[in-house]
Amino acid sequence: MNILILGSGGREHALAWAVMQNPKCDKLIVAPGNAGIAGIADCASLDVNDGGAVVEFAGENSIDLVIVGPEAPLAAGVADDLRAAGVLVFGPSAAAARLEASKSFTKEICDAAGAPTAAYGHFTDAEAARAHVRSNGAPIVVKADGLAAGKGVIVAITEDEALAAIDDMFGGEFGSAGAEVVIEEFMEGEEASFFVLCDGDTVLPVGTAQDHKRIGEGDTGPNTGGMGAYSPAPVMTDDVVARAMDEIVRPTVAEMARRGTPYQGVLYVGLMIKDGAPRLVEYNVRFGDPECQVLMMRLGAQALDLMHAAAEGRLSEMQVNWADDHAMTVVLAAKGYPGSYVKGTEIKGLEALPETSTQMCFHAGTTRQDGRTLATGGRVLNVTARGATLAEARARAYAMADAIDWPEGVFRRDIGWRALG
Ligand code: ATP
Repeated sequence: MNILILGSGGREHALAWAVMQNPKCDKLIVAPGNAGIAGIADCASLDVNDGGAVVEFAGENSIDLVIVGPEAPLAAGVADDLRAAGVLVFGPSAAAARLEASKSFTKEICDAAGAPTAAYGHFTDAEAARAHVRSNGAPIVVKADGLAAGKGVIVAITEDEALAAIDDMFGGEFGSAGAEVVIEEFMEGEEASFFVLCDGDTVLPVGTAQDHKRIGEGDTGPNTGGMGAYSPAPVMTDDVVARAMDEIVRPTVAEMARRGTPYQGVLYVGLMIKDGAPRLVEYNVRFGDPECQVLMMRLGAQALDLMHAAAEGRLSEMQVNWADDHAMTVVLAAKGYPGSYVKGTEIKGLEALPETSTQMCFHAGTTRQDGRTLATGGRVLNVTARGATLAEARARAYAMADAIDWPEGVFRRDIGWRALG
């Protein structure tokens, strides 16, 4: 099978690594890819948000399956364009990708599906939004409706913070994403991510994870794209998983099919769990980054068979072969991230890292220049390892992080603290 993966981050490096282990993969191209991915697959420059260009590229390269990494091409309808051209694709249509692209749409689906989530109001008018905050009080959560790269959510502890967030959003801080605002009840509990594959009808769980969003140890400081993750999430017991499937995931997937917009691809189910009861925080229509790295580390080669079956509508034939294992990924970021940071610093010591089926250094923001590896992004490397226990996975991941010679890089030492006790 010839496979094309769209994307350029640590998530796509992990997807490429898992796909390459499967003997059914004859050729793998990642567009645009990065320096780490170039070590295991061909990289091609391509505008992944341009459906016409992706269709043409897939045709020219005899691609049998396209796996879409990030949300932007999905929201732009690239999966629709590929399907219309007869190319097999793993990833939802633009209509189904609204589960991530519009928070008010997700709330509407939850209402129709009876899925438990925070009570909410939806506003296109600032004065009505302010009145809602005044009558409900704080803490309360204010969200820009559209895609805002994780920055359009304010968990307001005081009413004043909520009112200021409303002013910012209607004042255009998030562009068109903030023209509509969702205001939610603050949910207490422990957060976890639950990943399922869907083929429009059948739903197959492929793992749970927890991530660390804050830059600082002890989960302090500004929010980031994610500084580390581990799988499985202890809070996602068999009972919580069963409830999440029965009360949230299956009713949502059934509602999407009923509307004529079946969901196909991976569904990232963000949950808040309190007293064993899961409630939906958000859906994403792609693997999380860095959660994908730990999921791929645990699934290995079968990830390709599962994604292929989802794309072909054969998920009911599939099951996941679980090893009783744990995985952890630690993100190495450029000093200063998520604020301003210097680009182009050299990273040494990567060649000496043993990369095996139990440990890999996935690249997120690197380039190769004159035989040197340079950091090009904020989140730069993801050292990822598997072990019989989470402690073993952690030891392997941190041994890799410590072996990397990059004075301008930083990482958190406490990934997994909650699960490790
Ligand atoms: P991302 O995709 O980066 O997680 P997003 O912009 O899609 O972000 P949400 O996931 O909806 O936003 O919210 C971001 C975070 O805010 C959540 O992970 C959670 O920690 C917190 N949060 C969101 N909604 C609530 C809520 N109703 N109650 C408590 N916390 C919430």
